[in-house]
Amino acid sequence: MGYRKNPLGLEELRRLARERFLRRVTDINTALTLPEAQHLFEELEIHQIELELQNEHLNHARAQLETALSESSELYDFAPVGIVSLDSAGSITKLNLAGASLLGGERVRLLGSKLGLYVAAPDRPAFNQILERAKPPGEVQTGEVALERNGQTATHVQVSVSALPGASGWQLVLVNTTERRDAEEKLRISEERWKLALEAAGDGVWDWSVQTGEVLFSKRFGELFGFSEQEYGHHIENWSSRIHPDDKARVLADMQAHLSGVAANFASEYRGQCKNGSWKWVLSRGAVVSRTEDAKPLRMIGTHVDITGKKQAEEELLAAARFQQAVFDSLAAQIAVLDRHGTVIQTNAVWRKYALDNGLAESPYFFGGNFLEILDRMTGHDQKTTQAASAGIASVVTGGASSFQFVQPFFTPLDARWFMMRVMPVHDISERVVVSLEDVTELKAAELASQTLANTDVLTGALSRRNFLNLAEQELARSTRYELPLMVLMLDLDHFKRINDHYGHAAGDAVLVSFVKTVKDVLRESDLIGRIGGEEFAVLLPNTSLEGGRALAQRIIERVRANPVDVAGECIAYTVSVGAGCLSSETSFSGLLGVADTALYRAKNGGRDRLEVAPQ
Ligand code: GH3
Ligand code: MG
Ligand code: MG
Repeated sequence: MGYRKNPLGLEELRRLARERFLRRVTDINTALTLPEAQHLFEELEIHQIELELQNEHLNHARAQLETALSESSELYDFAPVGIVSLDSAGSITKLNLAGASLLGGERVRLLGSKLGLYVAAPDRPAFNQILERAKPPGEVQTGEVALERNGQTATHVQVSVSALPGASGWQLVLVNTTERRDAEEKLRISEERWKLALEAAGDGVWDWSVQTGEVLFSKRFGELFGFSEQEYGHHIENWSSRIHPDDKARVLADMQAHLSGVAANFASEYRGQCKNGSWKWVLSRGAVVSRTEDAKPLRMIGTHVDITGKKQAEEELLAAARFQQAVFDSLAAQIAVLDRHGTVIQTNAVWRKYALDNGLAESPYFFGGNFLEILDRMTGHDQKTTQAASAGIASVVTGGASSFQFVQPFFTPLDARWFMMRVMPVHDISERVVVSLEDVTELKAAELASQTLANTDVLTGALSRRNFLNLAEQELARSTRYELPLMVLMLDLDHFKRINDHYGHAAGDAVLVSFVKTVKDVLRESDLIGRIGGEEFAVLLPNTSLEGGRALAQRIIERVRANPVDVAGECIAYTVSVGAGCLSSETSFSGLLGVADTALYRAKNGGRDRLEVAPQ
C-alpha cells in the first residue's frame, strides 16, 4: 500500500508556502491600514493555531493507522493458510509466510516467479482453468492441486481463487490438505485390508451408500451366488430382488429395524438366488457406519456367509428329532425323557393322552415337571414305588447300572391300572434317561386270575387244598406263638356216591356247591374252608375254643340237614359228618388234621350226620 510515512520537512514546507504566497501577493496592490494589518495578523495567528490542531489530529490518526497496519501485516504473515497474490500474468506479487512455506521457498525469491511452475505438471491445466473461471469479480473458485518441489509432489493444497479489483490479477488462499488426504488414504488402506481379510475368510463383503442405493459387492459376494464381480450389479435392488420370496419380507424388516435404529445390528438368514436359479442359504450381517446429523443412515457395511451346510445340518437334526418323536409316539408305552435333574423334557403321545385322560394336563405334567413328583401323584403317594424309581433312575444316571426295571408292576389308584417301569440311559454327555411306563394291567389281571385259579377250587369257591394247607400252616404258627386256641373241622358228605348214582354227577356237583355256600354262611370272616378231596372239606377256626368250635360244627350239620338242594325240580336232601380237633401240642397242621380225621372216622362209624370231637 502506498502512503508517505512522514510529513514533508519543515524547510521544504516553508519553501512551498513562500512560493504560493508570492503568487498571491502580486495580486494585492493596496497597502493595509494599521487596524487592517492588526486584524489580518490576528486572523493569521488563529489560522496558524487551527493548522497546529489539525496537524495534531492527523498525527494521532496516523499513529493509529500505523498500529492497525502492522497488526494486519502480522496477521497476513502468520496466517495459518497460504495467501498469494498474482498479477494478471500469473506471477507472484505478494505472499505470506505460510504461502512461501507451502511453495517451499524464501519469500523474496518467490516474488516475481510464476505460481503455475510450482503446481505439479498434471494439475497445471486444471489450475489454469480455476484461474480463468475466477476472473469475473466476486467469483470464488476452488479446487485441489498438488504442489511439487524439484519435480516431486510435496504437498496437496486446496486453492480458493478470487480476482483482484480491476482485473489486476488474483488472490489465492492455499490450505494444506496433505494430512487430511493421508488420513483418508490410511482409512482406505485399512478398509481395503479388512475387506480383503473378510474375502479371504470366505465372507462376501457389501458396502452400501444408503442414500443413493449404490452398493459395492465384493468379488467373493458375487461368487457366493455364482456371479462374476461385474454380473451381480451395483445397486441394493440387485440384492433384494434375489431374496427368496418366502424370506424377503422378514429380511427387509430386519434391515429396516436396524436402519431406523431400533436394532443395534442387522443379521438375517435367507435364501439368495444363484445365477443358475438355485437357492443358497446365507447369513447377512451388517451395521450402519455413518449417519447424518439427524441420524439418517449414510453408509452401511456388512458381510455374507454361506450357511447352506449349517442349514442342511439343522434340517437333518430337525428330521432326526421328528423321526425320534414319531418312534416315541408309535410306542404303546408312556415315554418321558428326563434330564439329569429328573425333569421331564420330552414326552410321547401316549404319555400326553394319559395326562389328559386323568385330569393331569397341567403343563408341569407334560413338560418341565419332576418325574418323581408325577409318579407320586400317579401312585396316590405310594412312597415305596417312588423311592424305588428314584434309586433306579439314580443308578442309571450315575452309570452304576446299564438299565433299570421294576421287578413288580406298580398300581395307580387314579385309573386302577398297573404299570411296569423301565429306565434306559441316553449315552451322551447330557446324562438324560428315557423312562417308559408300560401299561400291564391286562397282564396283571391274567396273573391274578391264574393265581385265583390255583388258590381256589373252581367248582365250589372253597380254597384249594394246597392254598388251604399253606394258610392253615401259617395260622397254626401264629396261634402257637400267641397261645391262641385253634380249631379244625373235617367234613365229609354222607353217602355221596349214592347221590351221584341216583341223580347224576352234575347234581352231585350242585350239592357240593350248595354245601360250601351253606358252610360259608355259618363261618366268620376270619374262618377258612378248603376242599381237601372229592367230597371232603376242612374248616379252620382261628382263635376259637373247643366249645365254640363244637357249637359251630353242630350248626353246620343242622343247616345242611335242613337245606336240601333243588336240582332240576328234584329236591336232594343230604347230610354231613364232622370230626373236630383242637390245637394242643401239635407242631404241624397235618398232625392236627389227622386228629380231626380220626374224629370224623368215628362220626361215620357212629352213624353219620353227626359231630365227633377229639379226643374222645
Ligand atoms: P361215606 O358216607 O362213607 O363218605 O360214603 P360216600 O359214598 O360219600 O364215600 P365214597 O368215598 O365211597 O364216595 C365218594 C364219592 O364222591 C365218590 C366220587 O364219585 C364222588 N365224588 C368225588 N368228587 C366228586 C365231584 O367233584 N363231583 C361229584 N359229583 N362227585 C364226586
Ligand atoms: Mg369221602
Ligand atoms: Mg363221603
